Amino acid sequence: MHDYHAHSAYSDGEQLHRMLDAAADAGLDGVGFADHCSLTRDPHWREQRARYARTFDLTYERRRTAIEALRADRDIAVHDAVEVDYEPGADDRIGAFLADADFDYAVGSVHYVLGHTVFAFEDFSTPDTPDPDAVVDAYYDAVVSLLEAELFEVAAHLDVIEAHPQLAGRRTKEQVRRVADAAAASRTVPEINAKRLLREDGPDLHPTGALRTALSDRGVSFTVGTDAHGPEAYDGRARELERFCEDAGIDPVAPTDLAA
Ligand SMILES: [Zn+2]
Ligand SMILES: [Zn+2]
Repeated sequence: MHDYHAHSAYSDGEQLHRMLDAAADAGLDGVGFADHCSLTRDPHWREQRARYARTFDLTYERRRTAIEALRADRDIAVHDAVEVDYEPGADDRIGAFLADADFDYAVGSVHYVLGHTVFAFEDFSTPDTPDPDAVVDAYYDAVVSLLEAELFEVAAHLDVIEAHPQLAGRRTKEQVRRVADAAAASRTVPEINAKRLLREDGPDLHPTGALRTALSDRGVSFTVGTDAHGPEAYDGRARELERFCEDAGIDPVAPTDLAA
């Protein structure tokens, strides 16, 4: 099995060689590094991009040199990918960057909406935060836009918002249906994301429950990603992910085969 979604020190993960050695020890045949990249023009997210090293558009050529060197002395396959922060309305800018950079494949993710991230450290109960239902609505709207944009080979963790304790369980059947229909119509393949596999602080795989069922019902294919940020993430996660796919009858798509 290949892991098509890992991070390195070119964003918020660890050194490429440490990640690769851990993945090889875990029995993986390949790793795709999809480092974080924000192309936002919003001043708030520009500041966040600098603060949290989402500046991969400035460093991807350096990482490419490193990957070429590592390919030469490792048996494990290494894929040169990117995880772009998707923002509705930024399609042209994202498309131009991806066409120019020419990665092996591109992963798109919605990480923030309405001025806030959808991760657990955001508190949506304070007066200056939007209504949680509005956040969930904006989030799934953005996911549909991502799928309709056809910019990416992979859509990461389609319902990562379900790991947020204040936002989980609020989605409607209509939102699930819209996302599943958009995925069925798109060339962009959703991933089975194992970010929270073997942890107790959220759902163990994305997409969760009804959304995963709705995608499967429509015959949508999946790829796989551990979303590993450190080598320890491979300890058990790769094996569990492989077992899950076998049990669920999922034959993961290789996004390297989808890239134009
Ligand atoms: Zn992500
Ligand atoms: Zn990621």
